[in-house]
Formats: sequence, structure tokens, C-alpha cells
Amino acid sequence: MEQKLKRYLQKRDFKKTPEPKPEESLEKKEGVIFVVQKHKASHLHYDFRLEREGVLKSWAIPKEPPTSFSIKRLAVEVEDHPLAYANFEGEIPEGLYGAGKVEIWDKGSYLLREWGEKKIVFELKGKRLRGLYCLLKINPKQDSGKQNKNWLFFRIKK
Ligand code: MN
Repeated sequence: MEQKLKRYLQKRDFKKTPEPKPEESLEKKEGVIFVVQKHKASHLHYDFRLEREGVLKSWAIPKEPPTSFSIKRLAVEVEDHPLAYANFEGEIPEGLYGAGKVEIWDKGSYLLREWGEKKIVFELKGKRLRGLYCLLKINPKQDSGKQNKNWLFFRIKK
């Protein structure tokens, strides 16, 4: 767990940020959860998080997550967050990593269909996001040495 949350720890000073410490736990019912946090940082974005093996796997989506079938959104993979982050709402003070207001935009449980290296399929049971969704890794350019963190997030039919 500590290894998974290393990047989360490195980016934050818990004496200053109101965000949850990695060791904080989350009380929840059966099943796995997802959360979408609207984050008014320097650029407004939506943080999409899926519970997986004790942490929240996370992606930053620059625009509102789609409810219709016709829209595909870029989703940039970011560091794993602790489970307790699913309840976090508040103001990250100026000067800190991710400074700005965080509010929960949607939350619920999900059913996993497929979790692969490049493709994740799941059914969301939130208030705004309901139905089958897919995260699909975009193939990196052959010559780019950079690690690819870009995915597409979109709704799919059953
Ligand atoms: Mn964010």
C-alpha cells in the first residue's frame, strides 16, 4: 500500500493540506466504489477515481465526464489516491499541489467487467454517471520515449 501511495505522499505536505493522509481509512458498505471530484485548480477538471486493490486509481478529465454515447473524453492517468479521498471535499490552500476547491460531483459503486493493461470496462452506479463505461489507453507514438498516461473515457452500449 505504501508503495502504491508513494507519489501521493511525495506531492503533499500533510501539515498544510486538508487532504486525507494515506493511512486514513474509509468506512463503506460492500462492493467497490467510484468517485468523480470537480476540481477547480488552475485548470478546472474532473478527477475520476476507481477503487482497486485498496487504493483509488485516478485519472484527470479536462472536461465534464460524458453521459451520452457520442462523447469521448481524454483522461490523464495520475497518482493513486488513498481510499479515504473518496469522501474529500474542501479547499486546498494556495501555493500547494492541486490548490483550489474540490467537490464531489458524483459517487457510487461500480461493477467491474474487465481490468486490462490498456482497457478497463465497468458499470457505474452513480447519480450522474450510470451505465457501462470504458477507459481505453491511447497508443503512444512509436518514437516518443515518454511513458504514456493518456486514456479515453467514454460510455458504451451493453
Ligand atoms: Mn485534480
